[in-house]
Amino acid sequence: MAARAKKFDLNPRREKQTAKQNSNLKSLIRKFCIDRGADLVGFAPVERWDEAGEVPPDFRPRTIWPPARTVIVIGLAMPLPIVETTPSVLHMELYKTSNRELDQMAYDLTRYLNRLGHASFFFPRDGYGTLKALRENPTAAFSHVMAAKYAGLGTIGLSHNLLTKEFGPRVRLVSVFTSASLPPDPMVAEELCIQCEACAKCCPKKAIRRRPDQVVGDYDKMACLEMAEELTARRCYPCGICTKVCPIGQDRVLYKQKGAMKKYLKETEALAKNPDDPEYKSWSHVRKYGISKLKNARD
Ligand code: SF4
Ligand code: SF4
Repeated sequence: MAARAKKFDLNPRREKQTAKQNSNLKSLIRKFCIDRGADLVGFAPVERWDEAGEVPPDFRPRTIWPPARTVIVIGLAMPLPIVETTPSVLHMELYKTSNRELDQMAYDLTRYLNRLGHASFFFPRDGYGTLKALRENPTAAFSHVMAAKYAGLGTIGLSHNLLTKEFGPRVRLVSVFTSASLPPDPMVAEELCIQCEACAKCCPKKAIRRRPDQVVGDYDKMACLEMAEELTARRCYPCGICTKVCPIGQDRVLYKQKGAMKKYLKETEALAKNPDDPEYKSWSHVRKYGISKLKNARD
């Protein structure tokens, strides 16, 4: 007993030292990411997947990479005025650029942590090769959205997108797994989705449906995939209309929009009546160029 007590007496000092080291490491990681352009960074202990029990065990970080103790999630914002032009070549290029940047950042952070002696691993931004592969098996091996929720970056809305206070759903994510046990960020306590249903009303494939029993809606993956296939054939993927119309996010304050919601809700009808409707001129101008109207456009 005495020996045990002695050992116990020594531990708090050691634990304090380790906690300080981990907290310093967390600050270093945050700085590393922010210096490279990250808009959001969050830290999730791997236990959160087990505690929440929402993600099947095979899709949890410790199954994918057993040494993982913390998942670091990095977010890059998608500027609203470009998202509003979707479907367009501008939106497609923004999507590709953000994916490339995120993968580069995750790769760099993984090597940085390895150099510091903390074994690390990253899960790339898009975990699928082709839309055909997604049609055969429409599930990702790992969900960055769930990781971001557990890392305190936001909550999941009706549309199945991660909603953040800063950018609503207009943010793209990547995850780095590390063997270092880092201090966790608190999860966002209040639901950010206000259940306005703008995402469901504006979805061109009616893929989102509200549920009476929970915030996250029913989501028809195949209908959404069909939209992605159509837009990929026209070289103007992804759709992202549900991210465009969501009212959540401080980015709306930055861009000082007035009457945006009304404009979104009327867009399909207004453009069907008059493709040159002056209210939508800035978006329809961008959409007229650089993409094909054909269903199977080739390079
Ligand atoms: S991406 Fe487009 S098709 Fe898919 S759910 Fe969102 S709005 Fe609907
Ligand atoms: S558009 Fe409205 S209902 Fe849909 S996710 Fe955003 S806040 Fe929720």
